Amino acid sequence: MKFNNFKGERVFTPGPVEIPDRIREVLGRQIIHHRTKEFTEAFLETRELFKRLVDCPSENFVFFASSGTGAMEAAVLNFFSEGDKVIAVVGGKFGERWSELGKTYGLNVIDLSVEWGKSVNPEDVEKLLKEHPDCKGVLVQMSESSTGAYHDVKALAKITRDRDTLLVVDAITALGVYNMKPHEWGIDIVVGGSQKAFMLPPGLSMLWFSEKAQERLKPRSYYFNVKKEAEKQKEGQTAFTPAISLILALRESLEMLLEVGMDEVEKKYSKMSQGVREALKEIGCQIFPENPVISLTAVLPPEGVNADELRKAILSMGIRLAGGQGKVKGKIFRISHMGMDYLDVVQALSAIELALNQLGKKVRYGSAVGKYLEVISS
Ligand SMILES: *Cc1c(COP(=O)(O)O)cnc(C)c1O
Repeated sequence: MKFNNFKGERVFTPGPVEIPDRIREVLGRQIIHHRTKEFTEAFLETRELFKRLVDCPSENFVFFASSGTGAMEAAVLNFFSEGDKVIAVVGGKFGERWSELGKTYGLNVIDLSVEWGKSVNPEDVEKLLKEHPDCKGVLVQMSESSTGAYHDVKALAKITRDRDTLLVVDAITALGVYNMKPHEWGIDIVVGGSQKAFMLPPGLSMLWFSEKAQERLKPRSYYFNVKKEAEKQKEGQTAFTPAISLILALRESLEMLLEVGMDEVEKKYSKMSQGVREALKEIGCQIFPENPVISLTAVLPPEGVNADELRKAILSMGIRLAGGQGKVKGKIFRISHMGMDYLDVVQALSAIELALNQLGKKVRYGSAVGKYLEVISS
């Protein structure tokens, strides 16, 4: 069966994700100059919307023209000094990134290894912090996109909040998905990226910080200078040329998310991901993480099916899923839910059913799709 698609490829990867028409319309506009009243006004509006997103009136946040990793690097380079002891929760590729970043800039990194697919046990973090009372930070992912595992950052914040330790959360596939309240929860640094749940092209990152983190702010980067940027940005300007079009598009994205409301957005992704998990179990797949996130689903294919072959068959139908990275390369595939609507998912599930049958793993047509519809409609 040949799929001569008129509409090109659908992108179900956990970054980049598909861009809604409303945002594409903004991205297609002629550029405006950034040293203008027009930009300043738009930027300040965007910042007001961002405050609503994180449910905190503070001006302690900046946007950088970089991918998400740039803001992770900024977190290390602005709030920690050489020799500072930190704990990195390493249970996937992005946890490894925290560890590598810390080591690159001379931090004394203690790796807290977590089996891939598992979530960190907050008690293990507490125990390590008791052994190392001089520990200046805990670096973790809220959503470890490489394994689909959720780390309970709310529980971790309860442990770090009364210590001299900053909780640094890579929320690149969590911000815009969960109704995050970093101030209320006691998180100190939150990092986000545009090409995930904000449904924008890559190139814009976000870094939010608490008052406790502000006291530790000591920039040691020229470009990623949080102090200088925060001072400029709260006035509606930036130290360097901003990603102008992405900022204008972020305003649109934030409006879209807030029109729905973050409570409802979280409910939608929660239901959608639950539907996907149950649908896939129905056709012999296993869910890889023990405690899954709602922004994406990481999946072990049925016995005897190679994840990459399955993905290739699905891609020939015009549906792009993501593979495994690092240790789980070839073993799992991942479906992103970010930016997707309920009925988009039906396409991906249909393609999985077709591809499994093509590869000789017989599944009854409609069994995954039927299960999904049952779950989302209940
Ligand atoms: C995508 C992602 C990153 C990396 O972001 P880039 O934009 O590729 O630099 C970091 N952490 C998590 C959890 C991610 O999903």
